[in-house]
Amino acid sequence: MVIFVDMDDVIADTYGKHIEMYNTEFNKNLPLAHFKSGEVWQNVPEMHQDSIRKHARTDGFFRTLKPIKDSVLVLKEICQKHEVYIASAATQFPNSLREKSDWLDEYFPFISWHYRIMCGHKFILKGDLLIDDRTLNLDKFDGNTLLFNSPHNAHDNGHERVSSWNEVGNKLL
Ligand SMILES: [Mg+2]
Repeated sequence: MVIFVDMDDVIADTYGKHIEMYNTEFNKNLPLAHFKSGEVWQNVPEMHQDSIRKHARTDGFFRTLKPIKDSVLVLKEICQKHEVYIASAATQFPNSLREKSDWLDEYFPFISWHYRIMCGHKFILKGDLLIDDRTLNLDKFDGNTLLFNSPHNAHDNGHERVSSWNEVGNKLL
């Protein structure tokens, strides 16, 4: 199979990074469990929301994300069996292109630059499966889809869900 894998909130913990930065900035201690649904900014007082919206434009934001649990090990195995491409909407934030590339070099060196698609729209991709946390991307993909759980997609429907990389591994290995 040709498989496309998103980065933010699929292999890179962007949501967690927003929480971490918010906690530091406003001297809070909100755990992930506090965020039942919606974007991080939608779960904080209105006067703080603008600051969260600026995170992704901060230098180093994408370079310092933590890999999602088990994503490295499981994806490495999946790569032995399938043709895997990273497909990440990187053109939205100009600083992210270099940072995402360096981040992949560090955590996913087994996925070379030939297999990294830094893109805008994903509906242009043609393949068998897209793993993404945004229904916006999955809805328009002309193939099978897996919706990777995130608080922000808690109320979304229409796609098979996965909540961990072990679950993805069970389906694809
Ligand atoms: Mg994403």
